[in-house]
Amino acid sequence: MLNKDRARRGLMLILSGPSGAGKTVLSRKLLSEYADMELSVSATTRKPRPGEVDGEHYHFIDEDTFREMAKNNAFLEWAEVFGAYYGTPRAAVEEALSEGRDVLFDIDWQGAQQLKQSAASDLVKVFVLPPSLKELEARLRKRDQDSNGVIEDRMSRARDEISHWGEYHYVIVNEDVEHSMNDLRAILAAERRLRKRQPWLNDFVRNLIRPF
Ligand code: 5GP
Repeated sequence: MLNKDRARRGLMLILSGPSGAGKTVLSRKLLSEYADMELSVSATTRKPRPGEVDGEHYHFIDEDTFREMAKNNAFLEWAEVFGAYYGTPRAAVEEALSEGRDVLFDIDWQGAQQLKQSAASDLVKVFVLPPSLKELEARLRKRDQDSNGVIEDRMSRARDEISHWGEYHYVIVNEDVEHSMNDLRAILAAERRLRKRQPWLNDFVRNLIRPF
């Protein structure tokens, strides 16, 4: 049997956690290590910021197009945030999954909950925790020069995000990036071997036990 006949179904890997927990670094490492994984690119009606590339950071579309797509069920989920619309285009995700590629989502608990309604059985949800709130605050302070007020606001949002940890399949305390990557590799290896993600096995096993 050729390898192409053993096509698995891809999975949707969701990484959530408070900002500062390390999701972005882990996402980048996963994408560079796994050739068969891609990042989901959302569509949005907000204007591009300097340096943002259409089709890479977001698909920048106008409101009419967004509404039309929403009406046609072209989003797996969508939301309005700060007066702009954001959505996860369905077609790109479904194409990747059916071709045996995984799709990575760096989204918050609300996005994860919404995806659950449209794609539950394809989801692998991983929550990334910081080793401590003190460490999280130190990372946020190191990252940018925000005023104390902004840091306090981020810390209170971090507490809110963390309170949703129980809605995830896997939880990683990100003390050390390499240890966390090992955990993610193990999670991916196991999830890719789930029977439901290897539909080719039906024919394979039927042939295996066929009487002579
Ligand atoms: P920003 O405009 O700063 O890139 O993103 C603003 C907010 O929109 C963030 O909280 C981000 O999580 C959210 N967001 C980005 N893409 C999507 C999406 O596809 N769906 C949903 N529900 N939220 C999104």
